Amino acid sequence: MRMDASPDEIDGVVSRVESHGLKANPIAGAQRTAVGITGNIGVVEPGLFESLPGVLEVIQVSHPYKLVSREFRAENTTFEIGGVEIGGRDLLVVAGPCSVESFEQTLRIAELIKSSGGHLLRGGAFKPRTSPYSFQGLGVEGLKILARVREATGLPVVTEALDIDVLDDVAEYADIVQIGARNMQNYTLLRRAGQCGRPVLLKRGMNATVTELMLAAEYILDQGNEHVILCERGIRTFTDHTRNTLDVAAIPAVKRISHLPIIADPSHAAGQRDKVIPLARASVAVGADGLMVEVHDKPDEALSDGNQALLPDQFIELMEEIRLLASVLNRQVPSQASRQQP
Ligand code: PEP
Ligand code: MN
Repeated sequence: MRMDASPDEIDGVVSRVESHGLKANPIAGAQRTAVGITGNIGVVEPGLFESLPGVLEVIQVSHPYKLVSREFRAENTTFEIGGVEIGGRDLLVVAGPCSVESFEQTLRIAELIKSSGGHLLRGGAFKPRTSPYSFQGLGVEGLKILARVREATGLPVVTEALDIDVLDDVAEYADIVQIGARNMQNYTLLRRAGQCGRPVLLKRGMNATVTELMLAAEYILDQGNEHVILCERGIRTFTDHTRNTLDVAAIPAVKRISHLPIIADPSHAAGQRDKVIPLARASVAVGADGLMVEVHDKPDEALSDGNQALLPDQFIELMEEIRLLASVLNRQVPSQASRQQP
């Protein structure tokens, strides 16, 4: 729409779009409002809208995804979480154990994360394990532990919804609902995540292209949930020196085509703790909006992913390094002082 388009003119375009059986998605930007059209199969005739009052131009979106694209929204999507404005200048640090194992274990690690300046606590209550004989997570009991630890520390929590059966429980207890790599193309789950009323952390599938990641996020936005954080967590390649290959180039690639924030998870990419800090540095350097890392104070006793968990001192070191890097990159790691208390 033109910069001076009136609300009535915007409504007029919305009505015209709807009268053709299509969905109109008004997107208010800093300069002007765009009205995105979805629901069309094939090309929409530009002449249907070009001459309506207030219309500046009709742009054909060249990608299969729309709502997530910069063509629909030029400015970054930003929102507040844990005292951090994700998608803006701030860098978000999410940290915690792979799995919630007990109240004491989760609290100990959360206190360390809080005192070192981390913003969000992670921890799986429902675990996607390769083997059915491995620890599967504490389930709803784990969600309750996370909620108690949030109460005690003030750290908001992010945890995975493994399937649609548990999504409502996860959305009830968590501040952010995580969709794991194995579920990136679980379209029923994506739709339900789009309706859950919580921000969603969407992890890239280990075999997914960036286009497929965009389309997965599109499912969530299409349900009216714009609060999506993407996460690069490593992809399958032929190398065997790491568990997965962190696709650092995906971060600037996503930034170019999408307004959504993207963070990196170097822990699941590396699979070994000695490579987590170097990959975390690289992620921030290429423009990630934050990090998600696994931390454990007793990794030898961890019920999952102990090998990749940073030790407490390493997490403190990581936070110091990220703060230094942020200052060179004209970004910032918000400190505890600016965070809301419980
Ligand atoms: C996790 O973050 O807990 C996890 C299981 O990661 P991913 O889905 O990326 O494998
Ligand atoms: Mn893990």
